[in-house]
Amino acid sequence: MLTVEEAIETILRDIVPLETVEVPLTDAFGYVLAQDLYADMDNPPFDNSAVDGYALFWEDVQSASEDAPVYLVEVGEVPAGGGAIQPLKRGQCVRVMTGAPIPERANAMVMVEDTRRDPRGVAVTAPVRPGNHIRRRGEDVREGAHILSPGTHLGAAEVAMLAAMGCSAPRCYRRPKVAVISTGDELVEPARKPGPGQIRDCNRYALAALVAEAGAELHSITHLPDDEARTEAWFRACAGLDGSDPADVIVTSGGVSVGDRDFVKPALERLGTLEMWKVRMKPGKPIAFGRIAETCFFGLPGNPVSTMVTFELFVRPALWKLSGRKQLQRQIVPVRLNGEVRRRAGRREYIRATVRWKDDRFEATPTGSQGSGILSSMLEANGLVVIPEEASHIAAGTVLPAIILSLPAPESSN
Ligand code: AMP
Ligand code: MG
Repeated sequence: MLTVEEAIETILRDIVPLETVEVPLTDAFGYVLAQDLYADMDNPPFDNSAVDGYALFWEDVQSASEDAPVYLVEVGEVPAGGGAIQPLKRGQCVRVMTGAPIPERANAMVMVEDTRRDPRGVAVTAPVRPGNHIRRRGEDVREGAHILSPGTHLGAAEVAMLAAMGCSAPRCYRRPKVAVISTGDELVEPARKPGPGQIRDCNRYALAALVAEAGAELHSITHLPDDEARTEAWFRACAGLDGSDPADVIVTSGGVSVGDRDFVKPALERLGTLEMWKVRMKPGKPIAFGRIAETCFFGLPGNPVSTMVTFELFVRPALWKLSGRKQLQRQIVPVRLNGEVRRRAGRREYIRATVRWKDDRFEATPTGSQGSGILSSMLEANGLVVIPEEASHIAAGTVLPAIILSLPAPESSN
């Protein structure tokens, strides 16, 4: 049996990012950049005002106060989007809106709140410092500067920067296409009331959600009965062996153990290669990984918690690597366990927990019973507390690592 680390290493070893595509900026959120981004111009491109107010010479208003305002002659107005205006002279001011260009020679802005319009001119009622409220050309980004690298996940800030630098169709890695398959004769559609011995199919929908959350797309989504021939035929189709458009990844739930009606592993072995089976962990254990033609194959266990946790640990990093991401790990933080754990040593265990900041540290509260069929234990769980293989008793208050499910690690913490 492999350790979790060996399993991840086995899975990621031969995975390389998919080909690249140009993505319109409006769709780019969630893609991973496949190009460098250099600044094509200074940003901001011109000196501009950070406030609505008046451009002036700071020297003119050094003595200004509420009781003894300094009066300036207003010689113009620059709205946002406005063009150049004649150079300013001492004793003058120009009304300038936020983001509008500062007239030449002016060396400070006074905000409108520190002025009054008056028959004698613009009354400035407070002094200003040199450069006050002026945003300098290039203070954000200098022309030619390197801003983003391949492998960067595009969030809102990255998309904003691409827009600011004129990159309207960034080159990104294609998103992986995932074939989601649930297996089992006992499963019925959520819309149906299960009959005797039946249960509703949760994993198909959980997997679709996890695929979306990982930034991947569905190739197809299917339920298969426990039927050898149909299982094999569908795997062939998803891997493109019958000439159809192949998925990049096939993910199945259930049917991967050694029961008489578990057809996933034998089908994988017949059609492709099984590279790994069984990982020393809980929840989980029977996890098949392999390939059918060019398609990666993950046979996840059927218990809903096992399905979700093994997806997080093994499938998500594979999808991130296919998507071109550099950082494949989640953020891991030390947490103080709120409660004790007694168990049989031997397997790495992942405890579903609510991780929250309390007093001066993170505290992890297990979300109830940890059985692998206890779906409700996944609700409110924003972290997985990692119990080491050899531990059998963990006292309350012990500090352990927790994987934060919503967060990738920062680039530098690998
Ligand atoms: P299996 O590995 O196929 O024997 O499945 C293990 C357990 O998970 C069984 O109790 C199944 O009924 C359950 N299970 C399998 N697939 C699903 C699913 N899609 N939704 C909910 N439970 C499932
Ligand atoms: Mg089954």
